[in-house]
Amino acid sequence: MARLLEGKPISEIILRQLSQEVSQFKKKPVLASIMIGQNSAAESYVKSQSKMAQQLGVDYQLQRLPAAITEGELLNFIHRLNIDDTTDGIILQMPLPAHLDPQKAIAHISFEKDIEGMHPINLGRLFLGQSKIVPCTAQAVMELLKATQINLYGKDTVIVGHSDIVGKPLAMLLLRELVTVTICHIGTFDAGKLKDYISKAEILIVAVGRPELIKGEWIKEGAIVIDVGINRVEGKIVGDVEFDSAQKRASFISPVPGGVGPLTVTMLMRNLIEAIKARQR
Ligand code: NAP
Repeated sequence: MARLLEGKPISEIILRQLSQEVSQFKKKPVLASIMIGQNSAAESYVKSQSKMAQQLGVDYQLQRLPAAITEGELLNFIHRLNIDDTTDGIILQMPLPAHLDPQKAIAHISFEKDIEGMHPINLGRLFLGQSKIVPCTAQAVMELLKATQINLYGKDTVIVGHSDIVGKPLAMLLLRELVTVTICHIGTFDAGKLKDYISKAEILIVAVGRPELIKGEWIKEGAIVIDVGINRVEGKIVGDVEFDSAQKRASFISPVPGGVGPLTVTMLMRNLIEAIKARQR
């Protein structure tokens, strides 16, 4: 039976270290969080971000903007936060209303204040192995892998999902550890090859957003399984991996909820602290 990889205990250790760092700063860190219109998915993120910020002594400033805001108005708003010396980090809650281009808005955030690590400069630095500001979910997965205390060097690793916020940055972080990385996606699925790749994976990371897409019986005996997926099914939250059957084959498995999720916001706070330290240098 697999051991559970839970995010909360790891998060608590990291938060204690971050709290110490925050207590050394001359002023309270300020995180500006931009929310445009009504966005029920983002409301729960905002709630957990604001709770953790309070716990850490970070001033979480939620900026609610109207759904009808024009692109120019939004870019101006971001610009004002960029040049405001009291603002240390900026996040833009997704999804944006359809008339706004998320990539354009993110690229407008100063890369020094982009604590989600999604600015093209931060992603480019990640590619070059130079960045400390890395997308939070990818960092959260790396923390869970670290907690297994297994040497990742040369391990056959399959990531399912190639999104900009999870799959792609994660591949870059794993490459730094000289893991052998394979990325599967909808093309792999449509070619009927997903099961084949998964059955060979010593480490499997799934970030798709399809409830229980990955069957337990596909998983290699003794594999490490990290499930990033969050899916609401009949009022319950389930992951992308069939948990009960996968748990019987894996050596480690992250539960949903309770695995990657609790670490993601912690990584956001860590990015904020890193951004402040980088600007002080
Ligand atoms: P996304 O942008 O929708 O990306 C999903 C990826 O899965 C895409 O690369 C997609 O490929 C691929 N895909 C879709 N159907 C597939 C299939 N049948 N077989 C193989 N690959 C398939 O999603 P995301 O933002 O990366 O998020 C993925 C999941 O993680 C969601 O459930 C999300 O809620 C969750 N998530 C959790 C956290 C957390 O803190 N725990 C953070 C972020 C995301 P194509 O694009 O080519 O179709």
